[in-house]
Formats: sequence, structure tokens, C-alpha cells
Amino acid sequence: MAAKVIDGKALAARLRERVKAHVTRLVEEHAVQPGLAVVLVGENPASEVYVRSKGKATKEAGMKSVEHKLDAATSEADLLALIDRLNRDATIHGILVQLPVPDHIDADKVLAAIDPAKDVDGFHISNVGLLGTGQKAMVPCTPLGCLMMLREELGSLSGMEAVVIGRSNIVGKPMAQLLLKDSCTVTIAHSRTRDLPGVVRRADIVVAAVGRPTMVTAQWIKPGATVIDVGINRIEKEDGGTRLVGDVDYEDVAKIAGAITPVPGGVGPMTIACLLANTVTACCRTHGLAEPEGLTA
Ligand code: NAD
Repeated sequence: MAAKVIDGKALAARLRERVKAHVTRLVEEHAVQPGLAVVLVGENPASEVYVRSKGKATKEAGMKSVEHKLDAATSEADLLALIDRLNRDATIHGILVQLPVPDHIDADKVLAAIDPAKDVDGFHISNVGLLGTGQKAMVPCTPLGCLMMLREELGSLSGMEAVVIGRSNIVGKPMAQLLLKDSCTVTIAHSRTRDLPGVVRRADIVVAAVGRPTMVTAQWIKPGATVIDVGINRIEKEDGGTRLVGDVDYEDVAKIAGAITPVPGGVGPMTIACLLANTVTACCRTHGLAEPEGLTA
């Protein structure tokens, strides 16, 4: 039987509606408008697309949206000074520095300069530590979106075998922490894993976050498993154009999986919706207001 398609676009649209409704309540009942500042350094075309769509989504949710586009030659000191200003700006509840930053800037230093309470990407070492110890943290948007899709699809994840392929700080590791927090038995596989197909075949839940087009095939998948494809890879088509594919061979895996996310239209839309959700969460925490249900892990 063909796998159920997990419609990330539809789920993200529902989450964005919930965020918007909560923003309206915050404005009307507490005179507080959540604000998100996105900082982009240099001219990376993919980053510019991401920043534009983040700004548009922020405004559509009724939030304040601020974009800082800095020249590629901006010094680290000037970027840190901007972050300091945003940290002290009471109208800004979330700060996101779009990665990658140019080579002359130390990304770790920049992430460490963001106030952890405004760290809507969840990359600050304090939030990494809070998440790792099962405490209230700002949770990275992409893994949070994956978790929401899994809960929606499977209900309780308790006791399930989960294999995360990829051990990056922005996807693989926080994804594994979230699955552990939901009581899965978690394996993190990576480029040095021996018998990767054999490891993945044990999983009830597979999260692929590698960056290798269509690497995961049907032979790797336990029948009925739920497969979340984080990968975004641009490949050439025969007509010379390009198209996006994930890390999972969708057509092949859909024949055996229980449920699967498409690329595009799966994890991507959930990532942006979770950024908006994180901004609302940060705003509520800053103002000591009740956090809405279902916006974080
Ligand atoms: P990364 O390059 O930082 O990490 C990739 C990981 O894959 C590494 O830990 C590496 O060990 C592992 N890996 C590499 N080759 C492997 C192999 N042959 N077998 C097993 N593991 C292997 O990448 P990332 O930032 O974690 O992103 C991964 C993918 O997810 C990329 O395609 C990226 O574009 C995509 N992504 C999507 C979203 C979204 O919103 N949908 C967000 C972030 C990243």
C-alpha cells in the first residue's frame, strides 16, 4: 500500500493560523506585539529567499518584522553591535541571524551574543544545554517542525525506535534530543555509521537530515515506518532546469513506508511556521504571559 503523504503545507498553514490568533490576543488583551528581527550579512541568493519569506510570514501573522541587510564586508564588531542593540530593543522578541555568515565572521561568537531569551533559532549554547537536560528551551525550528508532524501523525511516540541520519547542531542533534524527550529509543547515524541501511531498517521513525539527494531508498525502510525528509537538494533535470529533491527517494520509499513527507511541501513550510511560533513563545515568556498550547515541544 502506498504511504500516507504528510502534508507539511497544510499543517504549517494550521499552525500559522494558531500563531496569528494568539498574536491578535496578545495585541488586544495585553497591548504587546511580538517582533522578529532577521539579520542577513552578504548576498547569498538562497539566504535572501529565506529571509524574504520569513519577513512576509511574520507580517502575515500580525507581528512586527524587521530586516537588517548588511554588506558582505560588515565587520564582526559591527554585527555584534547590531545584535546588542536588538537584545536591548523591547519591541523585538526574536532575533535570527541567517547562516552562513561570511568567513571573516565567527558564527559561534555571533550566536553566543544573542540574548538566549530572544534566540528563536535555539542555537545559543544556553538553549542547547536546556534542551539537552530536558528543560524549557527555545527549540530549533526545523526539528520542532519535524516533531510536530510526527506527533500529529503518530500520537504518542513513546517507546518507538527512531533513527536520525545526520548529526548537525541545527538539525540532527536537536532532533535526537526531542525524540528522546518524547521517550523514543534514539540512534543518531552519520557519515561514519557502519551498515547505515541496516541501522535505518530498525526504525519506526526515520528522520533524514544529510544533504544527499535521494540517498535513502526503500530497501532501508522497515515496512510501515514514518519517514521525515529534511533534506533540500537542488538537482539538474534532463531539460537543463533544476528541481528540489530530499534525502529520501520519495517514489521508491513511498511504496513501503507508512507515512512520508514530500520535498518540497513537507518540513520546509513547518520550519517557517515554527519560527513564528517560537517568536510568540519568546514574547510570552519575556512578558510573563501564559504560553499558548502546542506552539513548542
Ligand atoms: P550538515 O551538512 O550540517 O550535516 C549533514 C550530516 O549528514 C552530517 O552530520 C554528516 O555526518 C551526515 N552525513 C553526510 N554524509 C552522510 C552519509 N553518506 N551517510 C550518513 N550520514 C551522512 O547539514 P544540515 O544543516 O543538518 O542539513 C541537512 C539537510 O537538511 C540539507 O539538505 C539542508 O539543506 C536541509 N535542511 C532543511 C531545512 C528545512 O527547513 N527543510 C532546514 C535545515 C536544513
